[in-house]
Amino acid sequence: MKIYDLRSDTITKPTPQMRKAIAEAEVGDDIYREDPSVNYLESLAAEMLSKEASLFVPSGSMGNLIPLFVNGGRGSLVLASSLSHIIHHEVSALTSIAGILPILIDTPRGILNAESIVPHLSEGSYDMVRKAIIEVENTIGGVCYPLNNLKEIKALAEKNNMVVHMDGARLFNAAVATNVEASEIVKNSDTVTFCISKGLGAPVGSLLCGTKEFIEKARVVRKMLGSAMRQAGILAAGGIYALQNNINRLALDHDNAKEIALALSKTDWAKINLQDVETNILFFEVEGVALDKVIRLFKERGIMVLSDHSKIRVVTNLHIDSDDTLEICKIIGSIEKKDFLK
Ligand SMILES: *Cc1c(COP(=O)(O)O)cnc(C)c1O
Repeated sequence: MKIYDLRSDTITKPTPQMRKAIAEAEVGDDIYREDPSVNYLESLAAEMLSKEASLFVPSGSMGNLIPLFVNGGRGSLVLASSLSHIIHHEVSALTSIAGILPILIDTPRGILNAESIVPHLSEGSYDMVRKAIIEVENTIGGVCYPLNNLKEIKALAEKNNMVVHMDGARLFNAAVATNVEASEIVKNSDTVTFCISKGLGAPVGSLLCGTKEFIEKARVVRKMLGSAMRQAGILAAGGIYALQNNINRLALDHDNAKEIALALSKTDWAKINLQDVETNILFFEVEGVALDKVIRLFKERGIMVLSDHSKIRVVTNLHIDSDDTLEICKIIGSIEKKDFLK
């Protein structure tokens, strides 16, 4: 039986062409800034986002932690969605390492706007925590930020002497889905992190982007966290290949996710909101059935999924083509309500 792995887009393995690029990568000591592949990846990322500079970091989590550390730190706060990755999936590094206080904002689908932020910006006396950062996650649960929200959030941040950080782990999914250049999307964020290790298909790493001055500070903190790397060009080469070849194909992942969502909506057991399926991630529920039971039944039928935020999460990725998607939809169509009760 063929197994369709829809747990995440992080499970993607480098393709033969990417492995070739990795094998042929020129490398050097990146701590001496002598790794040509890392240098090229960093300049490519900065150029693509129209930021002054960028830094190659081993993970998206570190790409989020460093800006919270540099621009926030002890005695300061970050405003973020209550659904955000920095709150749920980064082992509380923001409090335990960066020492920053998160204030969580509840909004539909995790998308913040000015109205949801304003109540948290009251002027205060010296004994109040310093308001430092507004964090936006794009995409969040596969949902793209409207440009207008980003604009008004940046305006509020500026007015209050704060900076905006975008956790753009899946920034390029947002760019492809909304047909807006990534550089345009990040215009209103001071710092941005995006992952090459997810839908873009590279094995390891993320790029943190911002001003030159910020990136120099970020480089120091990366070293402090023990994550400066030596011949990291081996990894960077995968990222260069990904940025040069794998962005446009994200549209296929989005089409496949929509097909799977449609198949789920046609069953009499899945509860799904089709409008929320904008990119490569979708969520659904089976009312009255525990999540682990759904995961188990899907696995028995050859589909691997996970749960997140009390729902079943499905993520399409570059190992799932349109034939696979047809097959997945067929399997979903063959599942009956009573199968969950066994
Ligand atoms: C995956 C992800 C991260 C962190 O990436 P890691 O490389 O797993 O540390 C951060 N934010 C979001 C939204 C993510 O999906």
